[in-house]
Amino acid sequence: VTLHRDKIFLCFILIFILIIPCIKSQDYSANYKPIRDYKPDSTLIVKGESKFRDWPNHGIFSSTKVKQKFSEFAVQKAMFLHSLDSMELLMFNDSISRYLNRIKDRIASHNPELKNVDFHVLTYRTAEPNAHSMGEGYIFVNLGLLERLNTEDQIAFVLAHEMGHDLARHSIKESKRLSESYYSDTYKKIRKSGRKKFERNSALHQMINSFFANNMRYSRANEVMADSMGYRFFINAGYAPKSAIETLNILDNADQLIYTDTLRLSAYFNFEEYAFKSYWLDPSNTNQEWISDSTLFNVPDSMKSHPDCKARIKLLEEDIKSMPGNDIPNVHQFDQLKPQVSFEVVQSLMESKDYVMAMFMSLQMKSQYPANQYLKCVTAHCLFELAEAMTRNEYLEYVNFPDKDYGMAYNKFLVFLHNMSSSTLRKLFTNYMTTNLIKDKSDPYVGFLKFVSDTQSPLTSNKIEEYNHQYHDDYFFNLLQEKLKNLTRTKK
Ligand SMILES: [Zn+2]
Repeated sequence: VTLHRDKIFLCFILIFILIIPCIKSQDYSANYKPIRDYKPDSTLIVKGESKFRDWPNHGIFSSTKVKQKFSEFAVQKAMFLHSLDSMELLMFNDSISRYLNRIKDRIASHNPELKNVDFHVLTYRTAEPNAHSMGEGYIFVNLGLLERLNTEDQIAFVLAHEMGHDLARHSIKESKRLSESYYSDTYKKIRKSGRKKFERNSALHQMINSFFANNMRYSRANEVMADSMGYRFFINAGYAPKSAIETLNILDNADQLIYTDTLRLSAYFNFEEYAFKSYWLDPSNTNQEWISDSTLFNVPDSMKSHPDCKARIKLLEEDIKSMPGNDIPNVHQFDQLKPQVSFEVVQSLMESKDYVMAMFMSLQMKSQYPANQYLKCVTAHCLFELAEAMTRNEYLEYVNFPDKDYGMAYNKFLVFLHNMSSSTLRKLFTNYMTTNLIKDKSDPYVGFLKFVSDTQSPLTSNKIEEYNHQYHDDYFFNLLQEKLKNLTRTKK
């Protein structure tokens, strides 16, 4: 009997040994490793591209000229998908996207009319709070939207809404309408390039954003229709009716920053060797219009990324009356994934070279994860990049002036950045490194920061090889190579 008990005891110990690493991998208090392996299967992208290119072959057009425009538009759409993929902005096989696709499957399996559509939910790596149905079953959910949602039911409403757009073929209809009146050639600039990776170029990011803003918006009537269809799909799948309204309220507030606390900059940037200077917080040398405005977010509806939410809520309430469903909360896994979404938003900001917002968020997240090394690396990395930008006379391309639309916390942070010089930024960077990061010899991100900022021996291909030898990290190895390429380019 005792032997048996010992075996059971041993089993328990074994189970613990096996479980502990799993628990540890979800511990965000110490560090965070961004999701790297997430690219969609290339056939998924190629299939989508060819479906969009094929659009002009289905449909009747009022003239050959209109058909020509529509064809160009369809090509742009295919190119758009292609470039999002090439810039590694789309996630598909990672933990977040797999979760989204499980919710999508649940909705589809409860609604016979959706069963014949081949839906693919891709996570779009951007902080902008949005979701979009491209047509042909391709649905994008932005990280920035996921970060704002709180429950699986809310996510389900977003997905059901996008599935509604898709089933009603809003994308092709809207493209037809646009091609009758309007055609933009923004995307001619993006060359065909197989599936070669594009450089992480902020100009390309901006082009993609403007393409979204101009060409990817549905009319109010289509939005209302997608709400109504989506609501039905999502009720049939057993999701809670009240979360539909909650979701629209979240969208209605989506133009405000999530983080509104004023940063304790004097706590983060006060060092033994380099004390915090109070004049860094002095707003007098920036335009002060933003201070006098107490209503922080008074942008007109037409400027907002989600107009009409109030009107959509009113109409959706009618749907809820006629189809009440039941408000039993669903068991959901989103609580576990949500912290990861916030970290990935920060990472996506780094990749689009939005160093100001990335640093703002990394500092904000420090109140929840004070010891997280990834967030410290991001802060240091941003200080370094901003110092470099100032040396190149490109600071204003990265750092906006305070504005009454931004909110007090972010404006105060901008004031701080506008009181910097390249040498103060560099001093903050080196002191921040020595105080917070220099002790770690194994983290590839810390290693990257040391290599890139080493004033004793500037970056060369030999040095990059040395980095590779020491850390074996493809991501930072590529980042260093990109840096070196830019260095030699500016020297010429
Ligand atoms: Zn919509």
